[in-house]
Order: sequence, then C-alpha cells, then structure tokens
Amino acid sequence: MNLSSLEQIIVCPCCKNKLTKDGGHYKCTSEGCNSTYPVFNGIPILINPHNDLFEQKDFETEGDIFFKTYSNPGIRFLKRIQPDITYNNVSERNYADIASLLKGEKPIRILVLGGSVDGVGITHLKNILKEEDLLVETDVSYGPNTTVICDAHEIPFADESFDLVIAQAVLEHVLDPFLCVREMNRVLKENGLIYAETPFMQQVHGGKYDFMRFTHLGHRRMFRNFNEINSGVIAGAGSALVWSLKYFLTSFANSKKVDRVLSYGGTFLFFWVKYFDLILNKTRGSIDAASGFYFLGRKEKGYLLSDKELLASYRGFRYSAEE
Ligand SMILES: [Zn+2]
Repeated sequence: MNLSSLEQIIVCPCCKNKLTKDGGHYKCTSEGCNSTYPVFNGIPILINPHNDLFEQKDFETEGDIFFKTYSNPGIRFLKRIQPDITYNNVSERNYADIASLLKGEKPIRILVLGGSVDGVGITHLKNILKEEDLLVETDVSYGPNTTVICDAHEIPFADESFDLVIAQAVLEHVLDPFLCVREMNRVLKENGLIYAETPFMQQVHGGKYDFMRFTHLGHRRMFRNFNEINSGVIAGAGSALVWSLKYFLTSFANSKKVDRVLSYGGTFLFFWVKYFDLILNKTRGSIDAASGFYFLGRKEKGYLLSDKELLASYRGFRYSAEE
C-alpha cells in the first residue's frame, strides 16, 4: 500500500483535523485537541483517546480482541475442517458488479471497515486494483489485511476521500450502525459507492460484540441517503435454518465444554441444509426469511428516500391485516 497517499487523507478521529508525523506517532495539528496516536508494527492506531469501548493500548500488543485464537490443537483442527454454515454465492457477483462500476475512476480509493480478513468474494474487487489505487482495510482487530486500526463510529479520514466504502458483515457488530453509516457517507466522494452486507436471521456470533439485525427494509432505511443500485438476499432461508438448528442444539448447553461439542456437532450434522439456498437466494419469498441482506448504493447530491417510498419498495408477501 502507498503510505504517502494514505497520509494525505488520515485525520484525527476526535476533531477531524489533520495529523502530522511526530517521531513514531501521529499528532493532531489542532491546538485545542492535541491528541496523539501510536503506530504499532507500521499500523497507525487511530482510536480516539476518549473512546468508551476501545483503548489505544489494547492495540499495542499482538493479542486480538475480536477474533479468538485457540491454543488447543484439536479445536484448531476442527475449526479448520468445519464446513461453512452459510451458503453465499451472491457476494462474488456483487463485487464483480462493483468492479465494473468503478472502471474509469483513476486512481480508485476504497475503504473497507472490518477488513482485517477478506470478506466473501472481495478478491474479485481486489484483483482489478492497480499500483496507483488505494485500498485501506481498517478494523478494531489485527488480521492479515489490517492497515489502520480505527473505530467505524469515528472514521479517521477526511470528508469525500473514497470512491467506495465497504461494510461487509460489520454493522451488526457496532453499537450505533446509523452513526457508522453517517461516517461512511461523510468519507465518500459525491457519486461514490457504498456496499454493505448485514445479517437478518442469524444468531449471536462474535460473542459480546454482536448487537443488531435488520429486515430488508430496515437495512434499506439505514441507507436512505443513498440511491439504490441493487439490494437483496445474501444467503437465504436454508442458511438461516442451519444456524437455527445449530443454535437449537447449543441452547441446551450449560457449560462451555457442552456448548463446544454441540456447536461443532450441529455444524457437521446440518451444514448441508444450506444448499437449499442454491434456489432460495433467488426467490421472492426469501425477502421475509433470509439469513442476511446486501445494499449497494450511490451517494447523490440531495437524494433522500422518503419513508413512503421505503414502504412502497417492500418485495415480500407478508401483508398487513387490512389488505
Ligand atoms: Zn484532534
């Protein structure tokens, strides 16, 4: 990644003023703010010193606070061989569509929130990037991709910096997804693209860092400042059913050990049910029953989806009483 082009757009997460390099740190140039930001292994830790949840020092060690690494070799083996319980053949197609929409932008600037590891299908987008393009993968955890540590509620980039902002399987893990989307909007250029994938019928994952679920319309409303290019089902009721069966089993657990046995047992017993989504990713009935939804939209000056328009865009079959 091109560090100098990154430094042109990073700002103080507290006050959004410019940062300067000060020895091994970044320092806010605003006199009233004066916040400093450490760098760990070349990765700027742009966490507000007054952040309620995360502390800068949490990131000054190798340990990870989101993705748990297991020391038991048996569990590591099971984790490696366990099948995925979600069937998603939609993200790849969406990223291919996004790649073709971005053609002609030079250089392309992309921000990924929650991007410490690759999201499903994102390599289709990464493959079109050239040397002069800028891909900034941010997270509150260290992974193979992490280039900046930041909190999606306080994105440390200047207004209108990016052509595309991505939040794939992220907005369920933040405390205030609406605020995060406002921040995504702020750092997007006019006519820039926003892409999100968020679960609807999925049980808790990521432990304590899991807060929100959205219906198709609930998700659409969060992006009401964006003109929709496309939206729909990421994984259908087949995947939702695998999750339900697995969590039905784990809900019998009263100890961590039993939970683990039931969790792996459920995965290996029921994962195949997800293949119903070969069909159910495309049906209209899925809009009321899907595992998760995506939204792809464009930032357009003055655009706002009214709530009447929102309700008129309902695609499902669950009519209200008077109809
Ligand atoms: Zn500042």
